[in-house]
Amino acid sequence: MRWGSTTSAGSRELAVPGDLLGIAEEFLAGPGAYEENYRVRAAVLGYIVRDTLSKVASVRPVKYPNLPAPGSVVVGVVIEVRDEYARVRIDAVGDRVLQYPFTGILHITQIAERVGGTSRIYDLVRLGDVVRAKVLSSRPPYILTIREPKLGVVLASCSLCGATLRPSGDKLVCPRCGNTERRKVAQGYGHV
Ligand SMILES: [Zn+2]
Repeated sequence: MRWGSTTSAGSRELAVPGDLLGIAEEFLAGPGAYEENYRVRAAVLGYIVRDTLSKVASVRPVKYPNLPAPGSVVVGVVIEVRDEYARVRIDAVGDRVLQYPFTGILHITQIAERVGGTSRIYDLVRLGDVVRAKVLSSRPPYILTIREPKLGVVLASCSLCGATLRPSGDKLVCPRCGNTERRKVAQGYGHV
């Protein structure tokens, strides 16, 4: 018998929440674990650490540094616009580009303070727009908001000719054909 940690920090034994780590006579529930009915179980997804010296079973959480989380600021492209919502392909979390993009949902109530009357979703976001948004939910499809001043469309193309629109007052103007369009523009438009 070997004293000390039988399962080192380098353990690759993975546990999902609810997995049995041991019985309460053998182990105490450490970080990432809980005890229920004399059973110690994993509370989080992660790697099992059973310390036979301290008699503590814990789970070291698996970290997804690139996964969007509530409060994350993400950058994505509008890939679908309906009357009530827009679908966004999330390409980056903060300044880290994702290996696999996630889908975000931007409901019209999360686009602007006042919706209705003359403002339709097409005056706020359009297909192909690059948006900076904040994540509200913890799993996909991620619920997004762009209601804050720093959030919104950061790059948009002219619907008529495709040139990149430039901000002009509270509108966007096409430098090529002179077309003007509306969006829910983010502070710092032009900087993705
Ligand atoms: Zn144009």
